[in-house]
Amino acid sequence: MNANCIFCKIVAGQIPSTKVYEDDEVVAFMDIGPIIKGHTLVIPKEHVDPITEAPLPLINKLMAVVQQIARAQKASLRADGINVLQANGVAAGQQVPHLHFHVIPRFNTDGHHWNWAAKKYDNPEEMRRLAESIKAAL
Ligand code: 5GP
Ligand code: ZN
Repeated sequence: MNANCIFCKIVAGQIPSTKVYEDDEVVAFMDIGPIIKGHTLVIPKEHVDPITEAPLPLINKLMAVVQQIARAQKASLRADGINVLQANGVAAGQQVPHLHFHVIPRFNTDGHHWNWAAKKYDNPEEMRRLAESIKAAL
């Protein structure tokens, strides 16, 4: 447990949360500031961050719970769609530095629009160079 971490405090029961799922390794609870009502967070009980530091079995476990929550949101809330989001680092908009997946129910009429402005590469070579660089690091 990280004594300064708000999500570790939620896991420890030191601050209240509205849980929808819990097992030995994972907790899912309602986001206090939902983008869409029903917005749920799935986190490991262990303080791990960022995603690049998490052991693969834990990622697999988290993703299994993410899928279950998504299914439950579709079944119970009649969600038309689901967004799964996960941020790493301040540059990526992460506010709480404890690994978490956002599972957000979406409705045809919810009126929410991501500010997703697709950009362009300067030329095909630029994209190819970046792809080669990522490939070389795998
Ligand atoms: P991030 O920006 O780090 O990906 O997302 C952090 C999320 O945690 C935000 O959506 C925020 O509303 C949520 N959050 C922050 N503090 C609390 C809290 O004390 N309780 C709950 N349930 N959610 C929180
Ligand atoms: Zn933590």
